[in-house]
Amino acid sequence: MAHQVCLIRGDGVGPELVAAVETVFEAAKVSVDWIEVEAGLKCVEAGKPIVPDETIAKIKEVGVGLKAPMTTPIGKGSVSPNVTLRKKLDLYACVRPVKQLPGVPTPFDGLDIVIFRENTEDLYAQIEYMATEHVAHSVKIISDFGSERICRAAFEYARKNGRKRVVGVHKANIMKIADGLFLNVFKKVAAEYPDIESWDNIVDNQCMQLVTKWKLYDVLVMPNLYGDIVSDLAAGMMGGLGVAPGANYGVGCALFEAVHGSAPKYTGMNKVNPTALLLSATLMLEHLGELDARRDVEGALEETLKKGIKTYDLGGDATTSGFADAIASELRG
Ligand code: NAD
Repeated sequence: MAHQVCLIRGDGVGPELVAAVETVFEAAKVSVDWIEVEAGLKCVEAGKPIVPDETIAKIKEVGVGLKAPMTTPIGKGSVSPNVTLRKKLDLYACVRPVKQLPGVPTPFDGLDIVIFRENTEDLYAQIEYMATEHVAHSVKIISDFGSERICRAAFEYARKNGRKRVVGVHKANIMKIADGLFLNVFKKVAAEYPDIESWDNIVDNQCMQLVTKWKLYDVLVMPNLYGDIVSDLAAGMMGGLGVAPGANYGVGCALFEAVHGSAPKYTGMNKVNPTALLLSATLMLEHLGELDARRDVEGALEETLKKGIKTYDLGGDATTSGFADAIASELRG
């Protein structure tokens, strides 16, 4: 029976990337029954909320979704559709694997790290106001409940996936109360996993160590804002935003999406790299228990890259659709 999956085609380059995933899934004979749901700029332009209630209800009902990137107006206008989805679906664990890909050159040989980013709290609470005419406040929220479930998710993942160590990342030297709370919870959870090595790092030091001692790191867990920034840094180490996948997990609900945004300047140019969304879709296949399909799609993707078929960001001249067609041919043998 086909798996039901909600699909958000997204803004900017989103629809082109979704078309690439559809091409590859068709060639891999993956049985997915896509249920299209609306969110993003198109909704705002049609006078609807940026994430309509029906979209939230449908994803909750189906339990799984694939989401192309969506545009958030900067510095004004409506709230982020991405943050809204994560909060309304309580997708508290953002998981971003960062791994060297065959055929994608990187100076970070052997890179293989999984980042756990808390996805619902921190400065993404979207509580901001002008305290006076000249001073803005943005509220940072860190709870013991939110910190505990993301730390536990990271340690459970490490245990299930044979990972050796989990490092907690924070700025508790400056934000002694908020990040101090996260750090205390991290240490408390770590004590329950004596089989997993653990320590903590201050986020700035963590960034430096990532690019100097990347082989030391295995699983990293951190609050929302640091996770957002560190995972883009790590995406760059892997080969760029075009290749970095992601997944958001909650209770009974999971939404898969690339790390990158809607890259508006490339809209309609059939140019950007579909690898990040495709690898996010393979994380979804694993979640659905389609392990053979995941292996096949990743294998075909890697073969295509090894043959030197690449989009512009990796130094090649393949188009988005051309790259997807090459993977599809690989799958069809
Ligand atoms: P972006 O990630 O969209 O793009 C930054 C740059 O990265 C692009 O100009 C391009 O050079 C490169 N890039 C991104 N994706 C690529 C791909 N698939 N292949 C090749 N190169 C790629 O970031 P931005 O320009 O800061 O943000 C644009 C919009 O996306 C904003 O509205 C932002 O809020 C939104 N955004 C959405 C998400 C999401 O949907 N999860 C994430 C980040 C940003």
